[in-house]
Amino acid sequence: MKWEENVRKVVPYTPGEQPQREGVIKLNTNECPYPPAPGVQRKIAKLEADKMRLYPAFPEKTDLAAELAAYYHINKDQIFIGVGSDDVLSVAFMTFFQSGKPVLFPDITYSFYDVWADVYKIPYETKALDENFRIRTEDYKQPNGGVIFPNPNAPTGILMDLDKVEEIIAANRDVVVIVDEAYVDFGGVSALPLIEKYDNLLVVQTFSKSRAMAGMRIGYAMGHPKLIQYLNDVKYSVNSYTMNYTALELGVESVRDEAYFKECCGKIMKTREKAEKELAGLGFTFPKSYSNFIFASHKKIPAQVIFDKLKENDIYVRHWNKDRIENYLRITIGTDEEMEALYAALEKICG
Ligand code: PMP
Repeated sequence: MKWEENVRKVVPYTPGEQPQREGVIKLNTNECPYPPAPGVQRKIAKLEADKMRLYPAFPEKTDLAAELAAYYHINKDQIFIGVGSDDVLSVAFMTFFQSGKPVLFPDITYSFYDVWADVYKIPYETKALDENFRIRTEDYKQPNGGVIFPNPNAPTGILMDLDKVEEIIAANRDVVVIVDEAYVDFGGVSALPLIEKYDNLLVVQTFSKSRAMAGMRIGYAMGHPKLIQYLNDVKYSVNSYTMNYTALELGVESVRDEAYFKECCGKIMKTREKAEKELAGLGFTFPKSYSNFIFASHKKIPAQVIFDKLKENDIYVRHWNKDRIENYLRITIGTDEEMEALYAALEKICG
């Protein structure tokens, strides 16, 4: 077919499997094992179908950007909202990485970064993590078209100290540095306070993990008002009404219940502590995790074998056939009951 010559060809991002069967223990996509805040459920019953006739505006009463701004003690013009952080990051790639110079990110990181770079024809260079999977700050001190990394990093769960994050931002004042904080609420330290000091810093977060709303698709970026304005200009040039009425209304309810949010993150961190002990006892090694998953490798049994056997037992974890990490499994922290089932299955496989 002749027209195929002029098609934009990309290798898409591969998300973790979403098995639809009942009874599966899903520890493969870093979802929250607990429900969203109770106020979210209560609000669903009160949503008015009639409002769906209208394009979703941001009425004063349910302004998600204003709600988040108040929560983080910043101004509304320092926040950009999108359809999950994937949407926010995608718009940010399109907006900020236009110099023609390579954008820098780690070799082991969120596997969507190279996909966005490819689809938007942005050159990029990956920088190898050190032998302990840590980001080497000196790698990010060469001329570049922008920098992006998650903190904590994914899929390693490793947290970089804030002074090192700042070192990278300070060394790159002429380009935009994006810190992807999808997992920051599980014991991490946010770079958010640095947005007042550095106009080239964009901090991106999500409702998908710590707020248990992956299905609602809400993400946001925080930074200097000029960065936010540029993001909005691009977003409104592609698709103005990306956020739907339901997501905007329910997102507000989540932000309003801080106690539940803290309790939920606390429970996950407690289960993670127990998981570290159990997995170590079963012969796994892993870096200390500051996220809602553990990146673990067994001393004797190959990750692929464990992955396959767990799947036979209806327990799904994540595994990549990728250089340097092929012997690792990324295991999302589930409920205590789910984790007990995991330990029992691993005991049989590895014991
Ligand atoms: N950043 C990182 C590091 C992630 O692991 C994910 C989850 N796949 C995202 C961003 C995107 O999450 P969401 O679009 O659900 O906010």
